[in-house]
Amino acid sequence: MIIVAHGGAGWGKPRKKLLKTLERSLRAGYAILENGGSAIDAVMETIAIMEDSGQFNAGAGGNLQLDGVRRLDAALMDGRTLNCGSVIGLEGIRNPIKTARAVMKLPHKILTNIGAKRLAEAAELEPLAKPDEKALKRLEKFKKKGVDLTKFYEDYFSTVGAVALDRSGCVAAGSSTGGVALMLPGRVGDTPLIGSGIYAENSSGAVSCTGRGEDIIRMALAKEICMRMQDNSPEKAAKDSFKNLFKIEGQAGIISVNPKGKIAIIHTTGFMASGFADRKGVIVKDGFKRFAK
Ligand code: ASP
Repeated sequence: MIIVAHGGAGWGKPRKKLLKTLERSLRAGYAILENGGSAIDAVMETIAIMEDSGQFNAGAGGNLQLDGVRRLDAALMDGRTLNCGSVIGLEGIRNPIKTARAVMKLPHKILTNIGAKRLAEAAELEPLAKPDEKALKRLEKFKKKGVDLTKFYEDYFSTVGAVALDRSGCVAAGSSTGGVALMLPGRVGDTPLIGSGIYAENSSGAVSCTGRGEDIIRMALAKEICMRMQDNSPEKAAKDSFKNLFKIEGQAGIISVNPKGKIAIIHTTGFMASGFADRKGVIVKDGFKRFAK
């Protein structure tokens, strides 16, 4: 049993407070696994704690789109059944990851915008207040400074994700984000796209990605790494895929776990707030293995 989580990749150093919350969320996720809970429950809870904290680019702390609206994306996938759920452009709901979980119970796999919101309301999920002064000021700051996402993943965007392996040998993956800075209203990244931002399949493992979504989508990175994991260690699978990512000047970080409980935490960026919890305890750092061009 093991759970791995990240709080985003980038070139800015993640704050200590944020790493503490990541540690707390990993502990909570691992407690679920220890009590016989499923990988999907552990992943959801770990991500929900980070969404609630307001410290990450997810849930209560999610980035604003250029028009000042917070439209959130999240996805969850169960490696045993390949069942998955995703929400795109969700407004006014605190836990997109719990909404993604509610989608998993439907015959559909993805709900957008108002449909996702109605589902969350029907499931009595907590509402999210409109962006406060601080969030609006941050948007103004980005507008003044400008962020050239086509050059490199300059800042630190603290998207969150988790993967886990439970006692029964099942894996799961999840991710939640407010997207990137200065995005056009309606922009969607990799996070809620099954196969791009996340993938989980019991015979190969589970993968959750972060980084510039536009690059990750082009590669369907999560699925690519997952498939490579059938014949390679998680680390080798990620590195081989990153070599392809470099061909399109991509920037990303990934966490993964295979059915044997071997994990990888690798990023092309300078930092990636990340860590894991297993029977020996919890380890959280501002970066693990950097894989550069
Ligand atoms: N991948 C996310 C997106 O493009 C952002 C991130 O991971 O920081 O929306």
